Amino acid sequence: ETPLGPGPAARAAVARAAADLGRYPDGHAFTLRRVLSERLGVAPEAITFGNGSNDVLDLVARVFLGPCRNAVYSEHAFAVYPIVTQAVGAEHRVVPAHDGRRGPAYGHDLDAMRERVDEHTGVVFIANPNNPTGTWVRDYELEDFLDSLPRQVVVVLDEAYREYVEEPQYPDGAAWLARYPNLVVTRTFSKIHGLAALRVGYALTHPDLAGLLERVRQPFNVNALGLAAAEAALDDAEHLWRSRELNRQEMARWVEACRARGWDYIPSVGNFITLDTGRPAGPVYEALLREGVIVRPIAGYGLPNHLRITLGLPEENLRAIAALERVLAEAPA
Ligand code: PMP
Repeated sequence: ETPLGPGPAARAAVARAAADLGRYPDGHAFTLRRVLSERLGVAPEAITFGNGSNDVLDLVARVFLGPCRNAVYSEHAFAVYPIVTQAVGAEHRVVPAHDGRRGPAYGHDLDAMRERVDEHTGVVFIANPNNPTGTWVRDYELEDFLDSLPRQVVVVLDEAYREYVEEPQYPDGAAWLARYPNLVVTRTFSKIHGLAALRVGYALTHPDLAGLLERVRQPFNVNALGLAAAEAALDDAEHLWRSRELNRQEMARWVEACRARGWDYIPSVGNFITLDTGRPAGPVYEALLREGVIVRPIAGYGLPNHLRITLGLPEENLRAIAALERVLAEAPA
């Protein structure tokens, strides 16, 4: 999430909303829905709000997965896909990621994913970009993939980090909703908007699909402070711009630091970078903790030698780079 936290407009909106906590929040998110629908050029009834986009992923699993169904997703993909799949007793089909020969190493192999889809597949999860690898899929790859799938298979395109991506071939899922009634685009206010603690995310889908998600959504799943902050954040273009600029600058710093020191990293379009420490990353993580630097070991993602580092403020990144340099020098691989 952005190290800047919420912008001034969102902070002020939370303070105002905090004056009235005695009533339930608006269960249909009327204002946020209207503002977002105008912004994105989608129908108001195409939006389903969640307690973070994790909640929306859970709604999708509860509607479209279950025993006798399977979910297809990539190796190293975001951890919530296995959780929501498991929660409803569906089968996991984890597809090996690209090894770097036919596509970006660690990235989703959409051809291989398509091969695992069968008549029992309820959902395919695609993280674009993916956490923790920072890899992404190109518009033409995704288009081929969507065109080749039967329409009863729901495709979740998870765009939690979309605002950070500046690649010309990065697809805008919202623009494809009219073409693919089986597409679920998920987004969040947690990352670039800095509202992670307030838990506001949403899905964009065909209105019929939204109607299905609506049947299992808890009525007050998004709280009043979150709704108020998200509305304000949408209007705060300057904060978004600052978050993105900072990320661009700090990503350049990390990439440069890695190149200069020969650290192996996965090229990332998100707000984090994942390094191969060349040794089991657990002890490196522990040593960094003792230096006061908190990063993420990702052995649980099938990457036992890697650490994911979320980009911080300039001074935090400088400190983290120096700490990492010391730790790696103290315990050579
Ligand atoms: N998708 C991806 C790829 C993520 O990394 C995250 C956050 N870790 C989410 C979705 C969920 O974010 P939230 O529930 O805060 O919207």
